[in-house]
Amino acid sequence: MNKEGNIRIAIQKSGRLSEDSIALFKECGIKLEMGKGRLKSESSNFQAEFLFLRDDDIPGYVEDGVADLGIVGENVLVESEKDVIVSKKLGFSKCRLSIAIPREDPFEGPADLDGKSIATSYPKILGQYLSENNIEAQIHEISGSVEIAPSIGLADAVCDIVSSGSTLLSNGLKEVQKIFKSEAVLIANNNLSDHKKALLDKILFRINAVQKAQD
Ligand code: ATP
Ligand code: ZN
Repeated sequence: MNKEGNIRIAIQKSGRLSEDSIALFKECGIKLEMGKGRLKSESSNFQAEFLFLRDDDIPGYVEDGVADLGIVGENVLVESEKDVIVSKKLGFSKCRLSIAIPREDPFEGPADLDGKSIATSYPKILGQYLSENNIEAQIHEISGSVEIAPSIGLADAVCDIVSSGSTLLSNGLKEVQKIFKSEAVLIANNNLSDHKKALLDKILFRINAVQKAQD
C-alpha cells in the first residue's frame, strides 16, 4: 500500500482525458512533470505524486487504494462497477453513450430494439438501460471498433461513445437513442486517512476556485 505523505493521483497516460487532467492540476498550482515513458512523477510543490495509467485501470486502482485519487470518465467508472467516491465533476471530456443503427433502418422508438443484437464495449451500462426499458435485446461485447459491427453482420445496432457523431456517419450509422451522459470526474478512495483527506480538501478548494474563475 501507499505510504503516508504524498497523495497519489492516477491520471490517463495518453488519450482524451490526459491533456485536460494535466491542465487542471497546473491551473491549481500543482506542478507535475510528465517525462516520456514515465509512469510516476512527484510534484515539486505539493504533497502529491501522479501515476500515468490506462483509463480503464483507474477505478480499480482507486478502489484498492493503490491510488488515492483518479480522474476518469463517468462512462468508464460506471461500467467498472468499482466502489469509490465521486468527489467532483470536472466538466471536460464530455460525451454520451448512444445506440445507433444503420442509416436506412426505420426507428420509431426504443421498443424497435426488441429482439435485436447490439454490439458495445459497455455491456453493463447498456444492460441497465435495456432492463429499465423492458427491452429484450442481445448484447455482444466487443472491445473496439464497435461501429463496424453492423456492416460486417455482427450485430443489428451498436452502443458506443458519441461526441460529434461524425464517426457514426462515416460508418453509415445514425444515432437513435442517447442512453448515458458522461464527463470527467475526480474520484477518491473510500478510506482516505485524515492526512490525505486534508490534501484532497486543498485540491478541491483549488479546483472550485479554478472553476469559478472560468464561469
Ligand atoms: P486508454 O488507452 O487510456 O485505455 P481509451 O482509448 O480507452 O484510452 P480515450 O479515447 O482516450 O480512451 O477516451 C477516454 C475517455 O474520454 C472516454 O472514456 C470518455 O469518457 C471520454 N471521451 C471519449 N471519446 C470522447 C470524445 N470524442 N470527446 C470527448 N470525450 C471523449
Ligand atoms: Zn481505455
